[in-house]
Amino acid sequence: MITLATKIEEIPKVGVAYAKKLKKFGIKTVQDLLFYFPARYDDFSEIISIKEAKQRLGETVCVQGQIIQMESSNSFRKFMSLTQVIIQDDTGEIGIIWYNQPYLAKSLKEDDFICVAGKISLGKEGIYFASPTYERINYIGENEELTHTGRIVPVYAETRGVTSRWLRYVIKPLLYRFCEQIQESLPKEIIKKYKFLPIQEAVWQLHFPESFEHADAAKARFSFEELFLIQLNVLKEKIKLMVKKAHACPMDNDLLKKFTDSLPFQLTDSQKKCAYAILKDLEKTVPMSRLLEGDVGSGKTVVAAMAALNVVKSGHAASAKGYGEPRQVAFMAPTEILAKQHFKSISEMVKPFGVTTGMLTGKDARICRSGEVFEVSKKSLLGDLENGQIDIIIGTHSLIQKGVEFSRQGRDPAGAGKDLALVILDEQHRFGVEQRDHLIKNKKIVPHLLSMTATPIPRTLALTAYGDLDLSLIDEMPANRKKVKTIIVEPQQRKQAYEFIKKEVSEGKGVFVIFPKIESAASKLAETIKEKGPITGSAGFAVQNYPTAPLSLSSLAINEVKSLKEEYERLSKEVFPDLRITMLHGKMKAPEKERIMLDFKKGEIDILLSTSVVEVGVDVPRATIMMIEGAERFGLSQLHQFRGRVGRSDMQSYCFLFTTDPSMLNRKRLKALVESNNGFELAEKDLEIRGPGSLYGTQQWGIPDMAMQGLNNIFLVEKTRAAAKEILEKDPKLEKYPELKERLKEFQKRIHFE
Ligand code: ADP
Ligand code: MG
Repeated sequence: MITLATKIEEIPKVGVAYAKKLKKFGIKTVQDLLFYFPARYDDFSEIISIKEAKQRLGETVCVQGQIIQMESSNSFRKFMSLTQVIIQDDTGEIGIIWYNQPYLAKSLKEDDFICVAGKISLGKEGIYFASPTYERINYIGENEELTHTGRIVPVYAETRGVTSRWLRYVIKPLLYRFCEQIQESLPKEIIKKYKFLPIQEAVWQLHFPESFEHADAAKARFSFEELFLIQLNVLKEKIKLMVKKAHACPMDNDLLKKFTDSLPFQLTDSQKKCAYAILKDLEKTVPMSRLLEGDVGSGKTVVAAMAALNVVKSGHAASAKGYGEPRQVAFMAPTEILAKQHFKSISEMVKPFGVTTGMLTGKDARICRSGEVFEVSKKSLLGDLENGQIDIIIGTHSLIQKGVEFSRQGRDPAGAGKDLALVILDEQHRFGVEQRDHLIKNKKIVPHLLSMTATPIPRTLALTAYGDLDLSLIDEMPANRKKVKTIIVEPQQRKQAYEFIKKEVSEGKGVFVIFPKIESAASKLAETIKEKGPITGSAGFAVQNYPTAPLSLSSLAINEVKSLKEEYERLSKEVFPDLRITMLHGKMKAPEKERIMLDFKKGEIDILLSTSVVEVGVDVPRATIMMIEGAERFGLSQLHQFRGRVGRSDMQSYCFLFTTDPSMLNRKRLKALVESNNGFELAEKDLEIRGPGSLYGTQQWGIPDMAMQGLNNIFLVEKTRAAAKEILEKDPKLEKYPELKERLKEFQKRIHFE
């Protein structure tokens, strides 16, 4: 017996071959198939007479008629088949031509009635339908049971081998049989409050809507439901954390004053405000879960260092009272370069306070005691960590790998637990929730969590994907900063830009040049040729071995975006033969990358050519020019991140944008960058230009389309959040809502926020 839970391969129409294709979009059961909603609709709901259709050249229309003539041929061209049909109704006749649909000859015959929907075209032999959608009907005027024409027709996101037509053909009969068995998943009170369509009707109306209003009503219900599930999910996470305990770390005002006095600059008001919020959270036994958000260069690291110092010292203070209690802090950076940079700057900042820092990356282990840095073996570093000899450990993913143990000497009254009191994640979306869970799993005492990001998060996202975190925002730049001047450089101004670079370099300043890729297709091809030998044959590159290679190398090079390796050759030999130019890219080994960054920082490199690896966090105050090749290849937020690599001192800095393809859309994006220096504004702009899919991470989250669209709607987001809160307050385990609980479980399997 077939039910909603039946595997699709058991449906005769689907079978094993189609089941395999459908599994690619996560469709495994009958229920999944019914919940695979169309991406859009074709409106074929108006059926007109043939006479009228012939007056609507170029429009897409729908007519019904009887086949009075039919011809199929394969002779048109060698590999093309052609089916020609003439249909008539009371008002006239019209021809139809289908290309390459040989099976039509089998499914249609003269005298059949059909309904067709498609574009009215003009050919040599007059007006005709070109490859319209069609279906057999019983008589002219029938419109009860139409599926592919004569109605609002669902169009699904198609991939190879699964057409919308096929999906309609399979889904519709399943709806008739099983739609009524779908269990309502939204709580009754919510359906009532918002007057939503019940689930069965909503599913039906989404696939085969009576009207666009019906489709919209159904969509509204599912948009709500999906955002509601996201909210339940994040709020449940929050509750999970609230029942855990964390080390309370009292705020030490004297210490904090000494710390700020030791800095070479004054904290901005924003930094102070954020630091205070964090320090207040750290005083509690409820684990902190806070996101510190601030544009590139706004100074998040020092805020984090302050929190870390206070945590470590609160443990030292406890030990002065007679019970030894190391309080450790783990600081995780997304890349090795950044881990090393943070290790260096944080070690420097905490040096006056007798705090020992350690660093662990894939290969390196270092320790910094009383301001002196030692290379140590991994084993000895891990030993020191476990013994509580290290206060702050800074590193990459390596920090959460097997074998890394924090000390457990604390006799905190809250119960036995590890001494890890605070975890700081820099740019956490590169880590993922799993790793975070790894840190709190099976633990009674969990560390406080501070997550930092320079990615501006629009309010809707802050309330959904990041909805389990409290938010602090550094919305002010250090006072000494000058606004980076951003200029779109026309191709003919390239020389001028180079002259300007020479001048800046002569004053000891550093220049970044960013490329969208390491190698050009042309040079890759040239390399292939070198390896495989020259290409023979009269047809140029259209030889067997190079089936996709275009006709000539030079045609490729003209409009192609500049690549790192080629420009390195050109710039170092022709344009700046006297300057020190170096390449940096992701294929290099970490120690090499690190050495280059340090050399650049120290001023031993004038121009650093790089791929997007410099995107996050790297701090080189002497760099004043950020030049970006093929700027249209990057998203607005990413461009803003690049730009944030300069303007990190009191010197005037510049961002030059070079484009290969100055099309209108890209222009709009680059102009937005010229006009605004504010990451938030730019993120909202990106959202406007590219849609929610452009938001950081949303591509990978796997959240459904309808929820994604809902992310544009702050009111909907707030409504769903309130609804989720209300339900969870009454029933945190959702015991009274078994269907909802089930849906949530499925949902959690599908989404993975990073
Ligand atoms: P981000 O928020 O991008 O991580 P960083 O923490 O790396 O920024 O800080 C960027 C630079 O600004 C660092 O060199 C840091 O020492 C400096 N800095 C931080 N706060 C201030 C401030 N209030 N005044 C001046 N310089 C500051
Ligand atoms: Mg940073």
